[in-house]
Amino acid sequence: MDFDVPPETVEFAAEVDEVLRAPRTARLLRDVLERQDGMDGDVRELYRHLGGAGILAPSWPVEYGGRAADFTATVALLEKLVAYGIPQNLYCISVQNVGSLILAAGSERQRRTLLPAMAATDVTACILFTEPEHGSDLAGITTTAVRDGAGWVINGRKTYNLKSAYADLALCAVRTDPQGSRYEGISLFLVPLDAPGVVIRPLPSLADEQFHDIWFTDVHVDEDALFGRVGAGWSLITQMFAAERTGLDYYARGRHWLDIAAERLTRDGPPSGLVGADLARHRTRIAASRLLSCQVMQNLQEGNADIAESSFAKWHCSETAQRIAWWASDTLGLELLEPGPGVGDRVLEAAFREAPGMTISGGASEVMLDIASSAHVFDNGRTGD
Ligand SMILES: Cc1cc2nc3c(=O)[nH]c(=O)nc-3n(C[C@H](O)[C@H](O)[C@H](O)COP(=O)(O)OP(=O)(O)OC[C@H]3O[C@@H](n4cnc5c(N)ncnc54)[C@H](O)[C@@H]3O)c2cc1C
Repeated sequence: MDFDVPPETVEFAAEVDEVLRAPRTARLLRDVLERQDGMDGDVRELYRHLGGAGILAPSWPVEYGGRAADFTATVALLEKLVAYGIPQNLYCISVQNVGSLILAAGSERQRRTLLPAMAATDVTACILFTEPEHGSDLAGITTTAVRDGAGWVINGRKTYNLKSAYADLALCAVRTDPQGSRYEGISLFLVPLDAPGVVIRPLPSLADEQFHDIWFTDVHVDEDALFGRVGAGWSLITQMFAAERTGLDYYARGRHWLDIAAERLTRDGPPSGLVGADLARHRTRIAASRLLSCQVMQNLQEGNADIAESSFAKWHCSETAQRIAWWASDTLGLELLEPGPGVGDRVLEAAFREAPGMTISGGASEVMLDIASSAHVFDNGRTGD
């Protein structure tokens, strides 16, 4: 594996630092964190400021709002966003997941109209795959899109969504052929969330970020809203999962939480006994998370996406981050979990509540292991070098 950080990434990281340290960034972040709804507040103004600085889509081609940078620039960017306390979910979902799929599989018109706007946060997107009865078993989705003249009519319900309240568009998986196979009858649409018939309701969550339930009742969309071919949804979803499950955002959060816990535990000198051993173990696991994540991203950049490899990285990074959050609360005690005036206090308290969802979101751990093991990810020599 060769994850040398090129000089351009070092320069990019310094530029990101400068933007994130700027007083305007700090003020916009404070506005988000001080709102009653905390991290679930509307981060778009903050993101627009970052997008205006041209840092949010480093790996995209220049003509689509990026910088044609190496994947290590994306790793550096996410590490820094998390370390500076910038809520990262809308960014990851809109730019990293939906945007990257548009780049890889969208029409030239979709790339030209949507990507620069998404890199600037003038347009944001969320993902509507999960339904009340279909999460891991996504091939069973029942939301339908039926042809209607020159367009389509969508009916159904999606759930456990993050960020639809702040998104302009939703990448939505629907059934277009109820008679055909479970897989071939699925298509993807980019649905404008302000269309008549779309209702978004909040769902409580243990974590800071709320879920949403989304109801579609006779929602009319143009033919333009179709993403890819009719019936090509399943292969596009698989393609997106291979790119989404890099584990990068889980690794970045886990590393940040470990850094905060380590700083507290070593404040009065090196920790001894079990705590020192646990700290070393978590540091090793987080280093492994970074390597796995970088390997997936390098393979994606080279056109070698592999769903099994991605699933394994997502499993490792999310399980590691979850263990760190729970270990921090066990080790530092309940007192630390009381929200305090320091940013670090708040982060570990929120991490404790966010941790359970990490091994479910983006694909549950059991399912990730199932995909990884069925593809013999360790036997083909690609994860062991
Ligand atoms: C924080 C968070 C954010 C999310 N954001 C979004 C979003 O933005 N958009 C969206 O569409 N969805 C989102 N989801 C939903 C998420 O994708 C689903 O919760 C997930 O796919 C699991 O589906 P489910 O909840 O229906 O559980 P189920 O699929 O019912 O699974 C329940 C349990 O059974 C296990 N299981 C299921 N199938 C198998 C199998 N074949 N083998 C072994 N074990 C199995 C699972 O691992 C899990 O432990 C989010 C979820 C979370 C927690």
